[in-house]
Amino acid sequence: MSERRCFIAGNWKMYLTTTEGVRLAQELRNLLTQVRKVDIGVFPSALLLSAVAKKLEESNIVVGAQNAYAKGFGAFTGENSASQLKDAGAAWCLVGHSERRKIFGETDADCNRKIKELHGEGVNVIFCLGETIEEREAGTTFKVLERQLRVGLEGLKAPFPADLVLAYEPVWAIGTGRNATPDQVEEVHCWIRDWLKERFGATVGEALRIQYGGSVKPENAAQLLRVKNVDGALVGGASLKADSFVAIVKAAL
Ligand code: PEP
Repeated sequence: MSERRCFIAGNWKMYLTTTEGVRLAQELRNLLTQVRKVDIGVFPSALLLSAVAKKLEESNIVVGAQNAYAKGFGAFTGENSASQLKDAGAAWCLVGHSERRKIFGETDADCNRKIKELHGEGVNVIFCLGETIEEREAGTTFKVLERQLRVGLEGLKAPFPADLVLAYEPVWAIGTGRNATPDQVEEVHCWIRDWLKERFGATVGEALRIQYGGSVKPENAAQLLRVKNVDGALVGGASLKADSFVAIVKAAL
């Protein structure tokens, strides 16, 4: 059994101005400076990246972007490339967040292209997957996850050029206040672990981290983080306030 470090990541979504983001980063830096046993990351909007990354330089908090375009450069108005994000201070990037999939129509194949582009630039990826409530109620949760994993990770070979983390985020639990029960989370995370072992071999499959995301709050964090095969959390709403994010990080200790 490999030792997987817990990774608590805050997805700031399209919230906070640069001033507010820098203030939050400073607060987190002050409050979490002693934490050494847990990996911590914040994922601000692209506009805030440089300023937040500068504020967190030489700290124990890594910075990531929420999205990247799948091409290195070119006439793609409004997009940001992996190299531009890296240059702005992003060591990590989310791929396949359900809001990107649902609102912006991103496909599994898009996710695959993005992961490859980011890995090519040496940017670590948190690859998000999860089923909608309709898919869960239709009994197709594992079919959906299998497709997301198979297509999203198509052509990837271990060892990966940059760190790869999976985030299971049932869509019905994101921003709804309704989180999955520990039993539901355990069932899915064990299934993902087995899929990863089958696909990448036992050693790599055992070492890859699988975060849970979906209405993680200080009140439920400890219970969810205790679940077998849960190696951290991707936190949305509760990452926008220093006290709640810090409480979630501390629940992982
Ligand atoms: C997210 O944005 O990935 C998320 C899980 O949001 P929330 O914690 O607000 O449900």
